Amino acid sequence: MKIIASVARTNEILEKFDLRAKKGYGQNFLTDGRIVENIAEKADCQDGCVIEIGPGIGALTQMLALRAKHVLAYEIDTKLLDVLAYSLSDLDNIEIINEDFLNCDLATTVKDLRARYGKVVVCANLPYYITTPILFKLFECEQQVDKITVMMQKEVADRFSAKVNSKDYNALSVMSQYLYDVKTIIKVSRNVFNPKPNVDSAVVQFSQHERIKVNDQKAFFALVKACFKQRRKTLYNNLREYLQDGELAQKLINDSDLMSNVRAQELDLKQFIQLYEGYDHERKSLCKD
Ligand code: SAM
Repeated sequence: MKIIASVARTNEILEKFDLRAKKGYGQNFLTDGRIVENIAEKADCQDGCVIEIGPGIGALTQMLALRAKHVLAYEIDTKLLDVLAYSLSDLDNIEIINEDFLNCDLATTVKDLRARYGKVVVCANLPYYITTPILFKLFECEQQVDKITVMMQKEVADRFSAKVNSKDYNALSVMSQYLYDVKTIIKVSRNVFNPKPNVDSAVVQFSQHERIKVNDQKAFFALVKACFKQRRKTLYNNLREYLQDGELAQKLINDSDLMSNVRAQELDLKQFIQLYEGYDHERKSLCKD
């Protein structure tokens, strides 16, 4: 089997299909076999199934398929379907879906894959222009995947280690910390891609951890997002707008022992959970009345 992740093989495939990487789809193909192998190894997919977002010409897909029971890959670019059929023809445990990942029914897919293969993980070299929406989709999915191992721009990866009160601390930081342990596990130079991007990259891993579960995760995430809606505004102002009720907003802040002029970026995960629990309690008493 020819390894796809090399400079020579990538050029050979691109030439054979007269392909040029599409900037609009964030196409930067990995050409370093050792890095691709390392990512696939860290994906922790040996005893389960992997969802890949954007297989490109198949470099990572191939390494994942050599380890996992099954690979399900979403590729938006129709032109890559013939390429993938050719480059991955030696493997029979890969399913390519020609769809925008952001439009797929992820919950149903994860549920179905879990029933068939047990463990479900996500592994991808993400299209950088939609890193945030992809992560929001994964975090907000009611079927949580066991592990997410994804490459992104280094600057975006750095935000995941953002601490309370720093400029990069946002709703995504709170949601990811609630669901997973977050770690940058591999740094990747811009020189191992075709074409070469303007930035370096990093692989971030999100691993499930023991946690206190909130009653309604969807409502919790919606509240967190609303609290960060306008960073410059106080928590009170963002909450008042979201709840359409100033008195309730003030009560929730007081009951959580927060200062009245606090901003969302000053709250840690525990404080967000406390705020949500107060909100959940008020919602329930309203329903009873
Ligand atoms: N996995 C390959 C690699 O590592 O060499 C390619 C990674 S490239 C950075 C991103 C891939 O995502 C491209 O193949 C691109 O066409 C695909 N893509 C872009 N937007 C997408 C979307 N909304 N849904 C699914 N795939 C998408």
